[in-house]
Amino acid sequence: MNTVIPLWDVPTVPVEGSDARFPVRHIYCVGRNYAEHAAEMGGDATKEPPFFFTKAADAIVPVAPGETGTMAYPMATKNLHHEVELVVAIGKAGAKFMPDHALDLVYGYATGLDMTRRDLQNDMREKKRPWDIGKSFAHAAPIGAIQPVARGGHRKRGAITLDVNGARRQTGDLADMIWDVAHTLAFLSKLYELMPGDLVYTGTPAGVGAVVAGDRLDARIEGLAPLSVAIVPGR
Ligand code: MN
Repeated sequence: MNTVIPLWDVPTVPVEGSDARFPVRHIYCVGRNYAEHAAEMGGDATKEPPFFFTKAADAIVPVAPGETGTMAYPMATKNLHHEVELVVAIGKAGAKFMPDHALDLVYGYATGLDMTRRDLQNDMREKKRPWDIGKSFAHAAPIGAIQPVARGGHRKRGAITLDVNGARRQTGDLADMIWDVAHTLAFLSKLYELMPGDLVYTGTPAGVGAVVAGDRLDARIEGLAPLSVAIVPGR
């Protein structure tokens, strides 16, 4: 293709057991999907439908199994938070579907981090402005290798944890999600037509907190490839 400026690479994620990669189209994220985390953010989310925000596709930091990814400490924040999350990789298009159809669209699952400029997010929230600057920025979405459903099945339960420099910060179980993957995707599909290449970050358990340059993050979800990320000084 002839382009007027150089064409950039489409962001891609490694796939377990394959040399082929998963191209990323769009990133959706769920807010407050574990009751204890909703409480620590100041609210009771258990009776409300899920809500969503987005990140730019080029925010991903793809990390292959056995490797440690590098995240530059972002600009404009003094309070960068970690949120370990199950990520759903969408393999088929669909809109306005019911939960019992949702899992048919799933290509696979991965361990991810919804990195957050918490000071900016809170500032925007108090001013009733969009969260975007708190959630979507360079390196905001580290992600480990995708495990295809054909290889590992669906993830409905299992421990989800995050260690910083070897100390446990977040602990939960996928079974504790307020809205499971099927219901989350069904809600999301009423707002957007889901497309192959979309990623859905499904929310984080309690224990979110700050990290700084020099920290090492180890995210784990039972049965999936682990995700290790080193925070390095940024601009
Ligand atoms: Mn999150």
